[in-house]
Amino acid sequence: KKYENSLSLTRNTFKEGFNELFANFRTVDEEFFEELEETLIMSDVGVDLAMEITKELRQEAKLTKAKSADDLRQLIVEKIVDKFDEDKLPSILTMEDGLTVFLFVGVNGVGKTTTIGKLAARYKNQHKKVLLAAADTFRAGAIDQLVEWGRRSDVEVVTKAAGSDPASVVYDALQKAKAEHYDILMIDTAGRLQNKDNLMKELEKIGKVIRREIPDAPHETILALDATTGQNAIQQAKEFSTVTPITGIALTKLDGSAKGGIVLSIVQSLRIPVKLIGLGEKIDDLQDFDEEFFVRGLFK
Ligand code: GDP
Repeated sequence: KKYENSLSLTRNTFKEGFNELFANFRTVDEEFFEELEETLIMSDVGVDLAMEITKELRQEAKLTKAKSADDLRQLIVEKIVDKFDEDKLPSILTMEDGLTVFLFVGVNGVGKTTTIGKLAARYKNQHKKVLLAAADTFRAGAIDQLVEWGRRSDVEVVTKAAGSDPASVVYDALQKAKAEHYDILMIDTAGRLQNKDNLMKELEKIGKVIRREIPDAPHETILALDATTGQNAIQQAKEFSTVTPITGIALTKLDGSAKGGIVLSIVQSLRIPVKLIGLGEKIDDLQDFDEEFFVRGLFK
């Protein structure tokens, strides 16, 4: 229920777009498909994908002899659900035994720290022992903010003074996590994409420190993206992919975005699964991403 309310902006754009499309509906002709393509682009599905979906629907409408608006609506929903199924989305990974390490990356302001805080509360509620590492030492504000989330979620945070080597914070956190048998370690990092070489070096060093302690870690590298930035988020994801391998995306601020099509666009153009979605600023405003539920919800 809550999930549905939070997505009302996104849903309204879809619904209004499609209502308009079908209000003008007379017959299954080229004009209809052109309008459909436009509607998809407006919802931020991405131009290439909008064209692909439209092209496939054109053929399917012919094959299935779809005539009515209802037939077409059904075909469209099925098609979009299919597009997600092509890349069946694995949910966020946690190890059965021992320590699971999550590395979080993303540019400032996208909601990275908030996502870590929300996730910390989730695992804490599952009675897991959770540790946070403030490896964004570039901004003092970032450290304070993570400490504040730690307080809210009642989990410990490993910090060092601003300006310290991020890898040394990670090292300390790993030592603590191992010695005190933590289940989850979440590492916050600086998102200075404007200085790609430095960022790459910093993340490489952090990665090395982690692997020296736990060879198969980090188990997840989660990129936080702000849904309200639309196609810019795609660009950020592309750039981050060149800096470090990404295993999943946390798409934040979907509650403030009228363009939920961005989810589809990300999955299709980047082939990186969206694993988490942020639906507000509060501690429990985080959900695992469920593609079928999401797509069907958009058309309700
Ligand atoms: P960071 O710099 O990437 O760590 O970003 P923050 O976690 O500090 O978040 C930046 C701003 O976005 C804060 O004001 C958050 O409250 C807000 N924010 C984060 N996630 C969400 C979300 O899912 N929905 C909304 N509406 N706001 C969010």
